[in-house]
Amino acid sequence: MTSQDIPAQFEAFQQLALKLDMSRGKPAPEQLDLSNVLLQQLDGFLAADGTDTRNYGIASGLPEARALFADLLEIPAAQIVVDGSASLALMHDTIVFCMLYGIAGQAPWSRQQPVSFLCPVPGYDRHFSICEALGIKMINLPLNDDGPDMELVEKLVASDPAIKGMWCVPKYSNPSGAVYSEQVVQRLAAMKTAAPDFVLMWDDAYRMHHLGEQKTASIDVLAACRQAGNPERAIVFASTSKITMAGSGLAALASSAANIAWWQRNTSVRSIGPDKINQLRHVRFLQDRAHVEALMERHRQLLKPKFDAVLAQFDLYLGAIDGVRWTRPAGGYFIDLVTPPGCAKRTIALAKELGITLTAAGAAFPYGRDEEDRHIRIAPSFPSLAEISQAAKGIALALRTALEELHR
Ligand code: PLP
Repeated sequence: MTSQDIPAQFEAFQQLALKLDMSRGKPAPEQLDLSNVLLQQLDGFLAADGTDTRNYGIASGLPEARALFADLLEIPAAQIVVDGSASLALMHDTIVFCMLYGIAGQAPWSRQQPVSFLCPVPGYDRHFSICEALGIKMINLPLNDDGPDMELVEKLVASDPAIKGMWCVPKYSNPSGAVYSEQVVQRLAAMKTAAPDFVLMWDDAYRMHHLGEQKTASIDVLAACRQAGNPERAIVFASTSKITMAGSGLAALASSAANIAWWQRNTSVRSIGPDKINQLRHVRFLQDRAHVEALMERHRQLLKPKFDAVLAQFDLYLGAIDGVRWTRPAGGYFIDLVTPPGCAKRTIALAKELGITLTAAGAAFPYGRDEEDRHIRIAPSFPSLAEISQAAKGIALALRTALEELHR
């Protein structure tokens, strides 16, 4: 497409009157259908040990649900709690508990103001919303393909006791698809922190969510922390939101025995037990790691063509454009489209004129501020394959139009 063709192409695209919402990384209906057996009546409500799942109790989750997550996370079941249906809620509560009660035997964070968090960017907007809501100051950190810039991380945490934590999406990160290297994980586990109550918020949301045939292995952060003499440093979060059903799945948290006891103490005040019927339903359906991997392969077969379609359109329409690049993730739910400075906001506005709703500009940055205005999060999962190909062309067209305006 030459520069002269762009206005006519833009107009022709507008005539299609498309209406596509790509603002969030939601599973498509055909992915959710893969777990429809969960909607069928449960055949019996007794857990393996005879627990009546219809009643109160078992605050840490059914033993078989903990065993399932132990299999998936490769962490002993005794160090796992299965609770609720959203890992984000567990992350939120963890930070609230740190604020209210303190962690690692230290004073509540609310009495140690100011409190800061390291935020690798681009990152997950809802992590940043939690910090913003709780008045935690966020410090941006560049995220490379193999994880955060460790020189900078080590320097900051060693000198500033106000830095109490760090957000980490170690595998197929949202939105860039970055995968933390073994060396990065070891350094995070071993680094000296000025704060004795520093926490790695280890959000393993995409552990099982490969796009390529090559499956990137996961690194055991809890073992790394233990071996480095910092056994309480990391808290791991995971869920089946993008394995079974988003919002109706299972969520889990894993950490040292001391942190699990801390969590149990704090949560015993807020609930008399989780939804064990959903836990039992999930265990009967998912069974074990092998079955989950087989299910994830079916997700992959639905998702991979959509990612390929976006990449093909970007190659075609943006491949030769100076200063434009995008990630080619090996897993996860997103592509990070990086524009020349000052173009992301305008591209998103132009895409809207073409009927394509994208994640708000700046969302992948604390306080919604992408200072250089460069990052656009592309979420290919929800639209159909035909729609996504069309939408990717529209996004490319919007970016080409924004660039033309800039150079005019
Ligand atoms: N963490 C990351 C990195 C995500 O991208 C998402 C959803 O997009 C979540 C957590 C949400 O997980 P859950 O549905 O378990 O709350």
